[in-house]
Amino acid sequence: MSACNKYDVLILGSGIAGLSLANYLIDKQRLKSENRKLKVLVVSKGEVNETNTAWAQGGVAAAVDTNDSIERHVNDTLAAGSYANDTDVTQKIISQAPEAIRDLIGWGVQFDKKSNGDFDLGLEGGHDHPRILHHQDITGAAIQHAIQEYFTKAGGEISNHTAAIDILKTADGFWVTLFDLSRHKTIRIFCVHLVMATGGIGQLFTRTTNTRYSTGDGIYLSHQLGAAIKELAMVQFHPTGLYVEENSSFLISEALRGAGAELLDHKELPFMHRYDPKGSLAPRDIVSRAIWQEMRLSGKEHVWLDARMISPQVLQHHFSNIVSNCISRAGVDPAKDLIPVAPIQHYSCGGIATDANGRTTIKGLYAIGECAHTGLHGANRLASNSLLEGIVMAKFVAQEITDTLQQELQIPTESAWELPMVLSLDISNVKKIFSHAAGVMRNTAKMKEALRLLEDIRLNGNRIPFNVQDFENSIILQVSILLLKDALSKKSSIGVHYIEA
Ligand SMILES: Cc1cc2nc3c(=O)[nH]c(=O)nc-3n(C[C@H](O)[C@H](O)[C@H](O)COP(=O)(O)OP(=O)(O)OC[C@H]3O[C@@H](n4cnc5c(N)ncnc54)[C@H](O)[C@@H]3O)c2cc1C
Repeated sequence: MSACNKYDVLILGSGIAGLSLANYLIDKQRLKSENRKLKVLVVSKGEVNETNTAWAQGGVAAAVDTNDSIERHVNDTLAAGSYANDTDVTQKIISQAPEAIRDLIGWGVQFDKKSNGDFDLGLEGGHDHPRILHHQDITGAAIQHAIQEYFTKAGGEISNHTAAIDILKTADGFWVTLFDLSRHKTIRIFCVHLVMATGGIGQLFTRTTNTRYSTGDGIYLSHQLGAAIKELAMVQFHPTGLYVEENSSFLISEALRGAGAELLDHKELPFMHRYDPKGSLAPRDIVSRAIWQEMRLSGKEHVWLDARMISPQVLQHHFSNIVSNCISRAGVDPAKDLIPVAPIQHYSCGGIATDANGRTTIKGLYAIGECAHTGLHGANRLASNSLLEGIVMAKFVAQEITDTLQQELQIPTESAWELPMVLSLDISNVKKIFSHAAGVMRNTAKMKEALRLLEDIRLNGNRIPFNVQDFENSIILQVSILLLKDALSKKSSIGVHYIEA
């Protein structure tokens, strides 16, 4: 971080949302040579590449095939979202998908192609046509690498191992307190535009596919500022997390089912056709609930995924990451063995409420990527639409910021501030209470009881001076409470929010 502590734009997060925004701003600056140089800082809690983006496997959805259309992609998105999506936003984002793919390629991402030069498009649950652009089964890592390289080569400024911990709104912008996690020092910086790109909330749950940094910080900090938060109850569980008693966090991408893998019960018989005509490729909420029911019926903690019909060449070429993780984490070889799988927390459809241009309800504050709620996903996200949303919304926000750029960077006087107090918590207990109530199948009485317990912990917990670990735990508690309140405000089941009768 430079000695100067004033920025036009501060971006919290270095995943697809945060770095795409930074790259779009770089590209726009190149086109507008007469303007003063925009001062932009990207901040990342971990290493720059320790993001959910880098872990994405399947790919990015876009209607680029000549037999496909934007309309079909929109229809699949609305159907997966139980038609609770914002239709205008959905249309706006999906129609930008082919352009977003061109932008990613321009930044250096290489999507797999067939021998005839056409994109090798994958099929995933809920899509009526193959439209998933991918890089083997490590698409996220390929994207993360390319957008980082582009940003670094352009001289972009990034501060790793730095967490935003407090924000104060002024008339002209924001004072943000950053905590340098390596040196245990706080830094205060002023920015005119503040962008939340902080990713998901997986760490609220006992089992998640998300990175350890997915603690919902952007949602918490925005809520503290008074920004509207929407639809937190809409949590997507991925049906096929690799089940291992310890270390159950690896995801088996839907792409494997797209390539023919089938879900089997404990008698090793297919069961998905009993739940949905699309079978193993039904939308994720339906597959997750079906697996949950089967687990309940058998009394086991997982079902099986059978990929043995996929040729060893295809497994090695397209799914080498999955194959090696199955072997190293669970000791099963997908070419020969059944894979134990169970639903696992995966994605937050809700978040900081934004309009179709990424603006929150607070002037100058934007939210993009998984921490945001644009209305694209409705009550359930269609597979491979989240990387897409991250990049498309970044482009809209880049436009908004460029349009409202001030000629001179005003620097207000720094206000008094102090480090926030935090709660000393038994976080595994908090997660257990919460996960039990906010899982694949919910129950109103259980959610009320969990909320009562968590509110009690919040009100009566021991308050201690700031330290990073307890700060993060306090955020997990607060966001869990927000989520349960949102879930209890809903009168009936919809999409991923399923209340048992
Ligand atoms: C295993 C897995 C597989 C997936 N597969 C796919 C797929 O195939 N297709 C698809 O579309 N989606 C997929 N997803 C979902 C998708 O990867 C994510 O939704 C998306 O990458 C989120 O991008 P993001 O930029 O919003 O957040 P992230 O990529 O998670 O980045 C968040 C950033 O915020 C930073 N941060 C957090 N808190 C703070 C703070 N307080 N201060 C500063 N920085 C902070 C983090 O350090 C990080 O840099 C997958 C997700 C997972 C976990």
